[in-house]
Amino acid sequence: MFYCGGEDRIRTCVSFHSTRFPSVRLKPLGHLSLDGTSVSQIFNQNNLSGLVSQEQLQSICMNIAIDIDEVLAQFLQAVIDYHNNTYNTNLTTDQFHTYHFWDTWGGTRQEAIDKVADFARSDYFPKIKPVEGAQEAIQILNQNHTLTVITARPETMEKETRLWLNTYFPKTFDQIFFTNHWTDECETRSKGDICNLVNADLLIEDNLDYAHDCLNGKRKVLLFNHPWNQSDDLPDSITGVQSWSEALEHIE
Ligand SMILES: [Mg+2]
Repeated sequence: MFYCGGEDRIRTCVSFHSTRFPSVRLKPLGHLSLDGTSVSQIFNQNNLSGLVSQEQLQSICMNIAIDIDEVLAQFLQAVIDYHNNTYNTNLTTDQFHTYHFWDTWGGTRQEAIDKVADFARSDYFPKIKPVEGAQEAIQILNQNHTLTVITARPETMEKETRLWLNTYFPKTFDQIFFTNHWTDECETRSKGDICNLVNADLLIEDNLDYAHDCLNGKRKVLLFNHPWNQSDDLPDSITGVQSWSEALEHIE
């Protein structure tokens, strides 16, 4: 565990805070004030400063940036279902070793973008299933952390994406950013820039390039393991995980 550490002392402090100041949520800790008093001051005033360091205090509540596809949503499976039924193919997920779909089903990048745009307007899009364990895990994380979505999807999918998030993760995310990596119609933005904008402490992602793009010396990344992000040379700040339960073990 590299963040909250699960230390009893930190939990005691959080418990104390919740009891003493039930009307004040600890989220986001770094920006919270009570009549101009910071949380660290509250702890200091109550002789709790010896129990928890400033660094530990800040680690209790993090700004967590979260990707959508293959982290919250089983996008690939839904696209395959759409493709098989629309183009009479027999694709399966284990055939995809890259997120460049055209490498697997053929055609050009633009044709693939057009297919995915068509998919996003189809009845298949609302049927995208959440990743196993994602809803429960996000609910847990939302209790103490500030959660922001950063997706590479284009803004042209914003309406459908918000509807889907509201269905499976209602009233959960503070902000949703689209970085437009799969379109030529909108300006592409860097996930790293958005992470800096929201001061993300942690990114949960499945794309290795985006993971590297978001590193800044302090930020950590949890990388959901998939065929398209394999590497024998991950930096210490990127940790591979197999599931949401494993991800939670690294955070809580
Ligand atoms: Mg993804």
